[in-house]
Amino acid sequence: GTDINAIDATQWPDPAWPFPEDPALEARIDELLATMSVEEKVGQIVQGDIADVTPEDVRKYRLGSILAGGNSDPGGRYDASPAEWLALSDAFWEASMDTSGGGKAIPVIFGIDAVHGQSNIVGATLFPHNIGLGATRNAELMREIGRVTAIETRVTGMEWAFAPTVAVPQDDRWGRTYEGYSESPDVVAAFAPAVVEGMQGKAGAPDFLNDHHVMVSVKHYLGDGGTVGGKDQGDTQVTEAQLRDIHNAGYPPAIAAGAQAVMASFNSIHGQRMHGHKALLTDVLKGRMNFGGFIVGDWNGHGQLPGCTTTDCAATFNAGLDMAMAPDSWRGLFDSTVKHVQSGEIPMERLDDAVRRILRVKFRMGLFDAPRPSARALGGKFELLGAPEHREVARRAVRESLVLLKNQDGILPLAANQNVLVAGDGADDMGKQSGGWTLNWQGTGTKRADYPNGDTIWDGIRAQVTAAGGTAQLAVDGRYRQKPDVAIVVFGEDPYAEFLGDLPNLLYKPGDDADLELVKRLRAEGIPVVSVFISGRPLWVNREINASNAFVAAWLPGSEGAGIADVLLRGADGQPQHDFKGKLSFSWPRRADQYVNNVGMDGYDPLFAFGHGLTYADAGNLDALPEDAGVSAEDGQDAGYFAKGVPGPGIRLVVTGADGRGADVLHPRVVTPDGTLSLAAVDYQTQEGGRLLTWTGDATAELLSHSPADLSRETNGDSLLLVTLRVDAVPATGDVMLSAGCGDDCTGA
Ligand code: BGC
Repeated sequence: GTDINAIDATQWPDPAWPFPEDPALEARIDELLATMSVEEKVGQIVQGDIADVTPEDVRKYRLGSILAGGNSDPGGRYDASPAEWLALSDAFWEASMDTSGGGKAIPVIFGIDAVHGQSNIVGATLFPHNIGLGATRNAELMREIGRVTAIETRVTGMEWAFAPTVAVPQDDRWGRTYEGYSESPDVVAAFAPAVVEGMQGKAGAPDFLNDHHVMVSVKHYLGDGGTVGGKDQGDTQVTEAQLRDIHNAGYPPAIAAGAQAVMASFNSIHGQRMHGHKALLTDVLKGRMNFGGFIVGDWNGHGQLPGCTTTDCAATFNAGLDMAMAPDSWRGLFDSTVKHVQSGEIPMERLDDAVRRILRVKFRMGLFDAPRPSARALGGKFELLGAPEHREVARRAVRESLVLLKNQDGILPLAANQNVLVAGDGADDMGKQSGGWTLNWQGTGTKRADYPNGDTIWDGIRAQVTAAGGTAQLAVDGRYRQKPDVAIVVFGEDPYAEFLGDLPNLLYKPGDDADLELVKRLRAEGIPVVSVFISGRPLWVNREINASNAFVAAWLPGSEGAGIADVLLRGADGQPQHDFKGKLSFSWPRRADQYVNNVGMDGYDPLFAFGHGLTYADAGNLDALPEDAGVSAEDGQDAGYFAKGVPGPGIRLVVTGADGRGADVLHPRVVTPDGTLSLAAVDYQTQEGGRLLTWTGDATAELLSHSPADLSRETNGDSLLLVTLRVDAVPATGDVMLSAGCGDDCTGA
């Protein structure tokens, strides 16, 4: 009979918030608040996306914040120049300071996903994704990375990074596992304050939040890494103690370090969506844990609440959210929120508290006195993007992140003055080595030319082998011109982000053994093989490990591929350069169905435990690993899910418009071995603020949910429509396929 969502806040940590009450500041805010209209106040708590908000909108609606989401780019291109970004920052700032139409001058704040470096801007330094950083165990390095990321972010005018992610992923099937530092709360808790201080500066220090720093959003609060089945945006069904001791681990130290924003999460806790979880947002985070910054929502996350749409949601503000991320829905949300304040549904004190929290941050950052972004200290210093000293930090991070899993007969480090073949589809691919959240949301289409200063893995190896008097040859398919002495084969996962990366199990590329075959073929030709595995999580690669002489987990290293050569190769003088330092921050599975991390619990039996990682000195032979995956390539297809589906009551159907835009779902069908169960007509019911998709006719399927919640418009740049159905009549055996067409605004599905 206990309500898990009735949290006992007194059991939670109570970190100190490092900013003493500042009467002068509060008086200044009081004064400003007293002159602001309801509309002006609401403008501060609604954040629009640059794909859907113009400087003119900011001028008119007095919007206090804008964001560039993963797929939002000036001009709708993913390779907009840094100068275009800066001009955009200037235009929005000018609009916010323009009082010609009435209203106060309150500087707009511009947020962006600088999650592994300033990863939306061409030419920036790309650091390894967090999973690789976790393997370094080097909190001081996180501080440096935060510092560099802040500098490169300021160059194009943004003052705010949607980072760090302090998720503690407990199921590696989650498509965001790589955004987490570790499955261990201890690693996350050690890193969080370091990266916060790196980005913002040290609370109390003279340079705190000055124009060399950016404010952070620690995300995603709370329990994003604990969902059932690792399902993105799913339900987190853990005890209060697990929520507090595992998933909350990063927040108290981040708060003590002065983190200015926390981002609410898409997941629910035992069915209660976080964007409406008053006990956790207000009582725990702002109350017990003394968080004095502001809580920002995630992308239309408020629309997930029962009774809410993306354009109308008093409940989220009343639960404690201070700023709603309403990328394409800001206009409707603005209007409805003004009404809710006028009717008293959102109390004026709550609105004032939210605005006060946002204004405090803007004052602390000195934004009221700052010139336009291009006239600030780092604005327009484009030479800082991918600057040599920044790349050096990233290269070091790559070196320290590499985890050596096998080193048969001490083959590593390799002599550089020999004939080295570099093969595999990850060998010379800037996009693949950088992963998701690189120039666009999914990280697809990144070109070598987008990072002229960076190095692919091949670039790094070639340079060092050549300098040592050896010969380097690149052949992605392994078809060498001249028989090499040794091969370095680079392969792994292709980029993905969020729910598109969710997996039904931990098989690596089920049904596609091309990489394994490549390694085996080279071995059969008498060539020793060092495998470099690119991935956003541990996966079941026992066969690939068995086939290789050495095996290195390289995670998603980013733009400085040379860091890999630093560790794999001896120097020109024949001496080792940098030994392996990386230790697993996630347990490595013994079988592909061993996806739940349970360090410290009974029965914990991974293949390589948390903390494992060899050095050159560990030259021992690894016994052949069992080649039983526990699941087959067909699993994940036959249990009622299709493509990226995950276990559970729902079937997920992802429809992507061929032009990369959202699409309406038409003619959904469930195909079974016995024939086609048509789901018949699709009926769009008009709802306030959008169309709700419902199925009518055949009763074998029921629509459970869809995302985005608002189907009234194309989700510009947000390339997916996610639909969850329940299908009652699923055959006992055979494949079930779910398919659909799309509307006339797209050409494929
Ligand atoms: C993600 C956030 C991100 C936001 C803005 C959301 O889909 O969950 O992590 O900061 O988009 O791009």
